[in-house]
Amino acid sequence: MVSFKELGLVNTREMFAKAIKGGYAIPAFNFNNMEQLQAIIKAAAETKSPVILQVSKGARNYANQTLLRYMAQGAVEYAKELGWEKPQIVLHLDHGDSFELCKSCVDFGFSSVMIDASHLPYEENIALTKKVVDYAHQFDVTVEAELGVLAGVEDEVSSAVSHYTKPEEVVDFATRTGCDSLAISIGTSHGAYKFTPEQCTRDPKTGKLVPPPLAFDVLDAVMEQLPGFPIVLHGSSSVPQEYVDMINSLGGKLPDAIGIPEEQLRKAAKSAVCKINIDSDSRLAFTAAVRKVLTEKPGEFDPRKYCGVARDFMEELYKHKIIDVLGSDGKA
Ligand SMILES: [Zn+2]
Repeated sequence: MVSFKELGLVNTREMFAKAIKGGYAIPAFNFNNMEQLQAIIKAAAETKSPVILQVSKGARNYANQTLLRYMAQGAVEYAKELGWEKPQIVLHLDHGDSFELCKSCVDFGFSSVMIDASHLPYEENIALTKKVVDYAHQFDVTVEAELGVLAGVEDEVSSAVSHYTKPEEVVDFATRTGCDSLAISIGTSHGAYKFTPEQCTRDPKTGKLVPPPLAFDVLDAVMEQLPGFPIVLHGSSSVPQEYVDMINSLGGKLPDAIGIPEEQLRKAAKSAVCKINIDSDSRLAFTAAVRKVLTEKPGEFDPRKYCGVARDFMEELYKHKIIDVLGSDGKA
């Protein structure tokens, strides 16, 4: 048993309370490798933003859960080296799918876990979530739960259709489970193809898809039911078209990749939404950088030369999200 507190990590409780009061959201960035983690920590340290490091099932399969946890521990020390005296870093399990997995993360030093039982019938979702909460809270680890179903594909989490969260369920759910935050479904979606062309309109000038707006009426109704309760948005990448265009012009093939417009996320960040998950955007930044370097310098074979540029691209992206979209800069 290792407490996250020994590792210099923090849970989400105070962070979320401040974010709701202050009208901003905490960035939750997924990480799978060293370059991505360096970029996240540099961006957070330089902007003095609290940050949530997320470990998904795909990341655990790719990089190994043990290694990722030690990397997060190293990230705290790295942040201090960068001059961030008291780093506000959360290590969070993204989409935990069983009590055993959540328990193993709590026992191993994670400061926050998500139990995603949103695909189960309502009462089973409550029972499993409550079981995780009861365990995690003994160690002051915070728990995110989910109500409603997001469309899209995220690692091994996928669903063809979305079901908006039912606002009439949230009070009962939050009260009976004791969860610390709630991920809701209001039209965000996992992956880089958040909407089919049929769901969108097309900008006549650029030919680019224009996505349907988020269901802010559902968010408002949830906030009315649960005033001041921390709300989480998954699947909130914006799929920057500059990266998509760069990738496509350099031999890639990402037709009609589309995300959530940043102005809608900015609006959400000012509400009770206090955690916004962004993963696909950094994948796009990484891929655009690698394609660019290898196209411009076909003789390059030192991975540091293209992974280094990828790291710069990602750091730039993270800073932009922190400062221009979530408003979390200067809050840590
Ligand atoms: Zn998610």
